[in-house]
Amino acid sequence: MRQEKVRNAREARIGIFGGTFNPPHSGHVHLARTLAKALQLNRVLIIPANLPPHKQAQMLASGADRMQMCRLAFPDTLFEVSDIELSRGGKSYTCDTLAALREKYADASLYLFMGTDMLLTFHQWRAPREILRMCRLCVAARGDMGEYESLEAYIRGGPLGDIRDCVTLCVTQPFPVSSTELRKMFALGHAAEGLLPHDVICYIQKKGLYRMLDTQRNEEFISAIQEKLRPERFTHSLNVAKEAERLAKKYGADPQKAYTAGILHDIMKNSSPEEQLSIMEQAGVTLTADERANPKLWHAMAGEAYARAALHVQDEEILRAIRYHTTARAGMSVLEKVLYIADFISADRDYDGVENMRKAAEMSLESAMLEGMRFCIVDLVQTGQVIHTDSVEAYNEIIISAAARERMSNA
Ligand code: ATP
Repeated sequence: MRQEKVRNAREARIGIFGGTFNPPHSGHVHLARTLAKALQLNRVLIIPANLPPHKQAQMLASGADRMQMCRLAFPDTLFEVSDIELSRGGKSYTCDTLAALREKYADASLYLFMGTDMLLTFHQWRAPREILRMCRLCVAARGDMGEYESLEAYIRGGPLGDIRDCVTLCVTQPFPVSSTELRKMFALGHAAEGLLPHDVICYIQKKGLYRMLDTQRNEEFISAIQEKLRPERFTHSLNVAKEAERLAKKYGADPQKAYTAGILHDIMKNSSPEEQLSIMEQAGVTLTADERANPKLWHAMAGEAYARAALHVQDEEILRAIRYHTTARAGMSVLEKVLYIADFISADRDYDGVENMRKAAEMSLESAMLEGMRFCIVDLVQTGQVIHTDSVEAYNEIIISAAARERMSNA
């Protein structure tokens, strides 16, 4: 107890920096360092909120993860990451936190840090005048220098009247970044280097925080194909997505992945051969002799490359389904087969033989694959085209396993 009092006496000027820190970023670090230096503080408490009362928490990382990210963002001894709000639970009202800290640090001067957005809504917080009695507000702009004008106006005569005696405005060049923006970048797999401390980036990547599943991005993908495809091809893609989803449910693949793969499978179909080649070149794809001979195959390979590089699709199974939806290959996953077959029997297809394909698709994946491969290979032979080695291997695999099944049933 005595020791605690001695420590508290030494920590007479304490900064309090609360936030969602979801994740903490360089704007937070810049604000905290600038204010601590300007106010000559000897200690700053970094306090991740349990539930922020003033905003909807989106993709909220766990309290444990936000605590750890704060420790990595604020490693020096000047800072202490506190779980006072996380362990209290519920909505994190600053007035409750300050009351607890006032009791713990009875003799200290408390300085509450905040950026522009927080000060301009301060009158809407719970018990703002009580807060002003317990601490001094310390504010810096977060977007641009122009914000100082509205901050000045707020403290001279905003909704709470003249509060100049209770507020320190610290003029510093802002570091404009927000956690919302960073979560979006991580969701799409964009690099965020320079916008938050490197150790925090490594932690987020290691734990896979803020990653949005490709299957949750269908609206974005539908807009992308609408831009790149002619109306008929756009409708076909939506039909394939629906059919792939249905077949995935029937045959045990992930229906959401099947739907997404269906939307994206033809994304490069209406692009020029030059554009398809250039996308493949950028992705480091080298064409084999079979592939060079048949430009109709390029859209699938370019589609995979485009989905990966431009749309940041990360799911390898979806990418493989796009890549092999035209040639097929030996060793296809159920998802790949489902997309291959859905492309043959989607609602818009009306070629001779489509009804046989639809019947086969109801019987088994194997019969539908065999029917599809036969259809495709016969057509290539009749029109004098090269058959891709992947298709030959896929066909042979089906025949070999059908023969093995027959031997087993006769034994
Ligand atoms: P989100 O985008 O999720 O709303 P945020 O980036 O605003 O998050 P918070 O953790 O909610 O971050 O913010 C905590 C505190 O840090 C608030 O007082 C906020 O005004 C301040 N702040 C946030 N970003 C900056 C920045 N770039 N510069 C200065 N202050 C900032």
